[in-house]
Amino acid sequence: MKNEKPTRSELLASRSVISEMRQAYVASDVGGLHPTEQGGFLVRDAQANFTAIRLPASASDSLSFPLCSNGLFQGQEIVGSFHTHPNAGPEWRQEPSPQDIRLSKEYPETMGVHQFVISREDFYHIDNDGLVTVVGRTAEVLKLGDEELNP
Ligand SMILES: [Zn+2]
Repeated sequence: MKNEKPTRSELLASRSVISEMRQAYVASDVGGLHPTEQGGFLVRDAQANFTAIRLPASASDSLSFPLCSNGLFQGQEIVGSFHTHPNAGPEWRQEPSPQDIRLSKEYPETMGVHQFVISREDFYHIDNDGLVTVVGRTAEVLKLGDEELNP
């Protein structure tokens, strides 16, 4: 029995995924004094639930994903990946970099079928053909306002 890959909407309907992404966004200090790129893998566990596994942050403007040519990370099926673009100054690009796009095209097992890039303004999606689309405003996708109203 082969698992169907989830749709982008299915991943973003997961409270666990959104919660982890929101924590990564906050930890990134997006637009702040000490921006740090954060992110990780989106996986499907044995109970078919989606969640995120954060990777250790290392730099203000990059994040390393370990190569997972078998499509697994810590024994769980990789269905996607995400990282923040926390540098909001005018000299920094907000949209996915050519390197981000290349990874989704050339390393689909590692990056998963859905790669998300989270900037201060917009929340981007990259598919395995390298097509970039804007999912929506980051504050809306991550429900940042709701968090402030209902801590
Ligand atoms: Zn990037």
